[in-house]
Amino acid sequence: MTKKSASASIATSISSIRARRSKSGRDRAVTLIPGDGVGPEVTSAAVAVIAATGVKVKWDRQAAGASAFRRFGTPVPDALIESLRRTRVALKGPLETQVAEGWRSINVYLRRSFDLYANIRPTMSFAGVHTPFRNVNLIVVRENTEDLYSGIEHEVAPGVVESIKVITARASTRIAKFAFEYARIHQRKSVTAIHKANIMKLSDGLFLKCACTIAGKYPGIRYQEQIVDAACMRLVTDPGSFDMLLLENLYGDIVSDLCAGLVGGLGLVPGANYGDKGAIFEAVHGTAPDIAGKGIANPIAMILSSAMMLDYIGHQEAGNKIRAATGSVLRAGRVLTRDVGGKASTEEVTAAIIRAMRRT
Ligand code: ATP
Repeated sequence: MTKKSASASIATSISSIRARRSKSGRDRAVTLIPGDGVGPEVTSAAVAVIAATGVKVKWDRQAAGASAFRRFGTPVPDALIESLRRTRVALKGPLETQVAEGWRSINVYLRRSFDLYANIRPTMSFAGVHTPFRNVNLIVVRENTEDLYSGIEHEVAPGVVESIKVITARASTRIAKFAFEYARIHQRKSVTAIHKANIMKLSDGLFLKCACTIAGKYPGIRYQEQIVDAACMRLVTDPGSFDMLLLENLYGDIVSDLCAGLVGGLGLVPGANYGDKGAIFEAVHGTAPDIAGKGIANPIAMILSSAMMLDYIGHQEAGNKIRAATGSVLRAGRVLTRDVGGKASTEEVTAAIIRAMRRT
């Protein structure tokens, strides 16, 4: 890809975050992946909330992960890939990935297969959710396609393994452009690149060099760099000193869970994986096996992810309605799941959000 076409495609993907409404008048087809663990519970909550907005979505329900393996003998059925190729937009529940064995992460596989290189995780404080911090308002931008997630691991000799960290100028430059374009469009003040270039001088050094070059093209947005360990300490002592965070894949995964802790936990933080040709929307949390099937998972992270999906397909008003209703339910504090100090079920919280939407 030439330099010019690369920047044109980034501009397209950024503008498509804001508006991509179906002009045909037909219902927008979206792949729905209920997923594993709490996935089916929280995705059905999101589907109910979207239905209540009046936006017509034609869901193409597809299995993936452990539930697909049980039914079809594979965690990634062909029908899922065909559906994603056709719709190019998915709402996805978490998928089970075994630790230290089994198939490679299907989450990672899907992000890489569809080149969904930008993982955006907006992390905000909510009135009504009590945490040591107020007014946290962070946008985590995580590179999604390389780093130690390249999956290149081998045993050099018995008892000695290597895991290869891959960082390229191409991927580092495009994620930095995505972050700065996002900052420009959403009027954010600063982008902090988080790294460990004092130790990984070549790989993290390249990531920083690319980020710094792009930063130079956005003089109105402050650019800072911080070593990941120091950044973690500053995040848990003074989160308000950050605005947008720009990270490689692994630091992004870890730091975004840390950020979720600042605002009340994984039950509240949504996420989106954007590429030039499509997007998958999913909560930051995993399958939460400890609470799966009990009807007590917090549906808010997935409901807010579905609001991001509505923004993407051109229904920002409906997305705003969902965010406002969710905020008012949390603020009122009467109908909350256990993770945020209440006793309500997934269904009760979902119903409260739908009622709040109808009132506005
Ligand atoms: P996985 O291996 O799929 O990532 P995990 O248990 O390691 O699963 P998470 O699923 O992210 O990681 O869960 C971490 C903790 O956060 C668990 O105690 C879980 O119950 C809690 N949690 C995650 N999602 C939610 C949710 N939607 N509502 C309430 N608690 C949640």
